[in-house]
Amino acid sequence: AAKRDGRGCARVFNRSMLLLLEQRENLRRSLRMALERSELYLEYQPLFSTPSSVVGFEALLRWRHPEIGTIPPGVFIPIAEADGLMDEIGRWVLEEACREATTWPSSLTVSVNLSPAQFLSGSLTDSVAQVIDAVGLRADRLEFEITETVLLEQTIDNLDTLNTLNVLGIRISLDDFGTYYSSLSYLKNFPFDTLKIDQYFINDLETDQKSQTIVRSIIGLAHGLGISVTAEGVETKGQARWLKKEGCDCLQGNLLGRPMGAEAARNFVRRSAHVTSSGKEERNRAV
Ligand code: C2E
Ligand code: MG
Ligand code: MG
Ligand code: MG
Repeated sequence: AAKRDGRGCARVFNRSMLLLLEQRENLRRSLRMALERSELYLEYQPLFSTPSSVVGFEALLRWRHPEIGTIPPGVFIPIAEADGLMDEIGRWVLEEACREATTWPSSLTVSVNLSPAQFLSGSLTDSVAQVIDAVGLRADRLEFEITETVLLEQTIDNLDTLNTLNVLGIRISLDDFGTYYSSLSYLKNFPFDTLKIDQYFINDLETDQKSQTIVRSIIGLAHGLGISVTAEGVETKGQARWLKKEGCDCLQGNLLGRPMGAEAARNFVRRSAHVTSSGKEERNRAV
């Protein structure tokens, strides 16, 4: 996580924080209360269709610890997972993100990351149906992001869960594609709407022929299967240009918009709409 340069993430990762982290037990105990104390919150990072309009946001979980400061999810989610807290936290994330999405124009989607605990809990499909009903979000405006680690066991139960979500109209994307095992049988057996190519292959796209070949192949493979492709971690105009040229459907990354608070996201939407309709200078058009 420390290698990520996301603003307010790596930078707050200082010595005192490391000391506290060593006392994992402390963190674990305060995490138990973080929800009640409203220390958890969401940031939203915009997703852009090519050529250049906002199509939705990914909700990203943050913990504002009273003493340590903002702790990135890569640090505390594994603890929450191990401690059996992720199911409850995940339910909160889902409801909060869906409620926020109802304040956006109805063409925009919200993407919510699912942890293995949540996915495997058995109550996911019931609770998601309840949540979207309670907040009044159209099912096709919600997208779940899951990683292959969730699907390590390709069981009938997993397939059932994904199919039920699919029938509800909820979209499913396979996150961090290209890392982990990338078994093609996932693509054959599970109903994905989107593949998100991990930033590992995007970072050196301008200089590394192998990354280019891999990304080009993933795009071809996905499109052949009727699956759309999103590139994660787009940081340069060169990367964005290359990805557009190769037919990548969506871009996400600091070049186009960093994760931002709920209010900033609302303003971002308003500004984008204004800019697009005015037809003058397209400010969010980074490329
Ligand atoms: P992810 O789902 O792959 O999310 C993308 C990560 O890449 C985010 O890190 C985002 O801030 C970062 N990112 C986006 N654009 C750029 C860029 O241009 N450059 C770089 N260097 N990084 C970029 P973040 O917010 O630290 O989240 C890390 C991971 O934590 C997520 O990876 C996801 O797996 C997990 N996570 C976040 N929120 C939740 C949640 O609510 N529930 C669960 N289960 N997992 C979550
Ligand atoms: Mg994700
Ligand atoms: Mg990802
Ligand atoms: Mg990733």
